[in-house]
Amino acid sequence: MTAQRIPVLMYHRIGEQTSGWDRHYSVTPAAFAAQMRGLARHGYRACTLSGFLDWLDERTELPESSFLITFDDGFSGVVDHALPVLSGLGWSATVFMVSRRMGGPADWARTSGPDDRSRRLMDEAELRLLMNAGWAVQSHGRHHRDFTQLDEGGLDDELSGSRGDLAALTGRVVDVLAYPFGRHDDTVTTRVRQAGYRAAFSVQPGFNRRDADRLALRRLDVFGTDTPTTLRRKLALGSNDGSLVQQLRYRARRVFARLRPAA
Ligand SMILES: [Zn+2]
Repeated sequence: MTAQRIPVLMYHRIGEQTSGWDRHYSVTPAAFAAQMRGLARHGYRACTLSGFLDWLDERTELPESSFLITFDDGFSGVVDHALPVLSGLGWSATVFMVSRRMGGPADWARTSGPDDRSRRLMDEAELRLLMNAGWAVQSHGRHHRDFTQLDEGGLDDELSGSRGDLAALTGRVVDVLAYPFGRHDDTVTTRVRQAGYRAAFSVQPGFNRRDADRLALRRLDVFGTDTPTTLRRKLALGSNDGSLVQQLRYRARRVFARLRPAA
């Protein structure tokens, strides 16, 4: 069976949890390893960003159990903890970098906790480790601003500026974006297209089918509280809610849809 819809996972920090904020935005190294190995055991396979985009454009087929892994912001903990796990499975991921914040703190986040490595943003040397492992490097803006609050010049600086920064750094084409805070509107998407981006990821949950809006691609938010089981349900349901109740509701809706006579 080939994929009719592909879910995309969104991670932020991989590191120990010390606050309520962490429980939402941080996945512990042990939980991340368990999540990925659990998915692999159940037949899921991570695809590459280029494979995903080719699939969207009907240039290739992908197996039904394909999914895409993305990391926003570029925390150092991703290099330390996610890279070895994914490499061990023969998988790679995509990291959306904040081009002018590399090597520093994620000062836009209401984060708290010990100022350890996992809360720092990766520097160029760390980014190279990901690139060497086949990861895709794409844009999350220059300074992690809310794009809907910027004037034309500010928006262009974030969009074209980050593309230029990252292309110079990586020597690769940068033409995919993840909106900081997931924030975008019609003005933003118009400017994103004009700045030369071919795709952009939102934080709206759901599946991506081939008719998906390329500038509002959907992603599933992985929480620090997700277990391998809830994560698998999220992928199966295309929902941020991986509870058993949500799974039962989904099944019931499908049964009723089948029973309902065609109008
Ligand atoms: Zn972000």
